[in-house]
Amino acid sequence: MAVFSQEVVLQGTSICRGIAIGHPYFFTLPEEMVPEYGISVDAVHEEIARYQLALDRGREDIKSLQDRLRRECIFDGVAILEAHLLIMQDPMLTTHVEEQVRTTKKNVDYVFQMIMKKYQKKFDAIKDSFFRERFKDIQDISRRILGHLRHGAHRCLKNVPANSIVFATDLTACDTAEAQNDCVVAFVTCSGGATSHAAIVAKAKGIPYVSSINFEQIAIEKDGWVVVDGRTGAIIVNPSEETLLKYQELRNQLHMHLEKLTQTGKLEAETYDGYGVQLSANIEMCSELDMLHQFGGSGVGLLRTESAFLTKEQLPTEEEQFAIYRDFVEQMKGLSIVIRTFDLGGDKYLRNQQTIESNPFLGCRAIRFSLREKEVFKAQLRAILRASAFGSVSIMFPMVSSLSELREAKAILREVRKELEAKQEPIASYIPVGCMIEVPSAAIVADLLAKECDFLSIGTNDLVQYTLAVDRSNSNLSELYSPTNPSILRLIRLIVSEANHHGIPVTVCGEVAADPRFTPLLLGLGVHELSVASRYLPIVKHAIRNTSIVAASKLAEEALLLDSAADIEELLNREYQRNAPEDRLYNLFNMNL
Ligand code: PEP
Ligand code: MG
Repeated sequence: MAVFSQEVVLQGTSICRGIAIGHPYFFTLPEEMVPEYGISVDAVHEEIARYQLALDRGREDIKSLQDRLRRECIFDGVAILEAHLLIMQDPMLTTHVEEQVRTTKKNVDYVFQMIMKKYQKKFDAIKDSFFRERFKDIQDISRRILGHLRHGAHRCLKNVPANSIVFATDLTACDTAEAQNDCVVAFVTCSGGATSHAAIVAKAKGIPYVSSINFEQIAIEKDGWVVVDGRTGAIIVNPSEETLLKYQELRNQLHMHLEKLTQTGKLEAETYDGYGVQLSANIEMCSELDMLHQFGGSGVGLLRTESAFLTKEQLPTEEEQFAIYRDFVEQMKGLSIVIRTFDLGGDKYLRNQQTIESNPFLGCRAIRFSLREKEVFKAQLRAILRASAFGSVSIMFPMVSSLSELREAKAILREVRKELEAKQEPIASYIPVGCMIEVPSAAIVADLLAKECDFLSIGTNDLVQYTLAVDRSNSNLSELYSPTNPSILRLIRLIVSEANHHGIPVTVCGEVAADPRFTPLLLGLGVHELSVASRYLPIVKHAIRNTSIVAASKLAEEALLLDSAADIEELLNREYQRNAPEDRLYNLFNMNL
């Protein structure tokens, strides 16, 4: 391995554990990828036509966004987009660009970008911040037009070179979903929280990820080596020979350790005093089901249906969904699967969907989106119901915040079932229906929801976000995003006790379920079912087998008496170390210990 000049260590936040050694790959925005080339006189006409088509498509996008906003009664947004349509008629964006293509004989995307840069300079020089801010609208329009001009060149992680460490300002769930394991070995970003959907997808794929790294300040050779230590959040640029050897050795040990843990497939998920736990998997893609079977998972506790479609431009049709859900159900080999309806919005959008809300996590997300877009919802429910004929399916609604929302969703489900039955479509006779508890209002009325559900599932990723009012994707607030906050423990205890009272099962399917330090705490709080990304099944099974229900209950009691997140976290760390003193996992795998 060639070693470059000086070793530099950058400290960021660990998002997904693991160690990677590779070469940097800078993942850029569409406007950063515009090439410059000359065109012949004959091609000028074609180039201008290409530009006009991009403008037309940009206008169509805006109009359809306006329609959506009108349906949602967001009239301010409609007015803003009206202004965008007007800007798009401005000669600066029409005749001026065309003239410049004729004069310079350069490709139109390059010409367009140069013009935009000139405008940016002019706007930057304006003293009045109100007018300076207006450039954001132009930038937005410019990105849209460039996106259409460079369609097919949209930023995409599908075809990056092997052994790439992807450096990006930020990543979306769609970006990480597109990454191929054999090419992308790690992610490094400036921003992004540990439970953002981009991070969850990276974890599901087992790709180490570190955020809060300001890599723009440091020159990184394109073909130089970079080490990503996802356990500690360190990035080592230009590692010395010695550092490289150390990390290669560590990476091998980690692989061996994980390999050993995977042997747990045949073992029961039960504590050493014989208390059984349902340990299932959170799944994004069909390919993860092999791991579920290999690691002896008891089923799928959460299928994030939107994940399979995030890289697409359109929502899938009923038939497309039916084919995919049936495939999932058939590959379960008799195990049960909880299919969650779309959780779109928040930080999850389709490729050409754009957020128009100032606060998307508090906006039209998940079940709210489905209840407004009824035809989309019904098509999804029809596809799920039809797939239910092929195995053991449950349906779960995400981000329910009130009983009336649950009732409305269930009423639509009944209506769809009736329609299908009238057409004599085969459907399973009993399909359990449940909802996620991830909003404090839902947790507080868990008794009401439990009465009308067949099961509950606690989504701690969102429950922490909404209870503590901390954006789960904001890495600047990561110290405040604390699942050990006493309020979270009390809410979990409340939900579990209401579920028990109504005799229905309750699962924890947020990221804490995959953290072995939390395993005894959750069991002690009365949770019998955990659902974690498939690759974490062995680690969590190991943690379950390493504890007793008596010790777990004592730990939970003790934790509930503590009054700060830091004290509870310290207690969990201490217990984890005490219970598994010679556990190699402790040294190699867990980031905080
Ligand atoms: C959660 O919020 O904990 C959860 C499992 O759902 P998601 O991460 O998909 O929002
Ligand atoms: Mg959630």
